Amino acid sequence: MTHDPHKMSCAAFQALLPELIGSGADAAAHPHLQSCELCRALLADLEIIAEAARQLLPIVEPPDELWEQIESAIRKDEISAAQPEHLS
Ligand SMILES: [Zn+2]
Repeated sequence: MTHDPHKMSCAAFQALLPELIGSGADAAAHPHLQSCELCRALLADLEIIAEAARQLLPIVEPPDELWEQIESAIRKDEISAAQPEHLS
């Protein structure tokens, strides 16, 4: 039996991976990856997915134009509410 991380099984490494990434550690620097191409590829895939997720969920400021449209729509509503069409 050995606790040499180079001899760690892929399953053990992959079980550790979310913790490694979550802790902010450099998962790519893990010794298992120095000897395991499979897990290097897995980590690369995970990083691509994480990067894609960041790009799919950007924090976007609505353009000024959109706010103007919303404002004018609200103003129109207020005007029509204040001036009902059927005054008797
Ligand atoms: Zn591995």
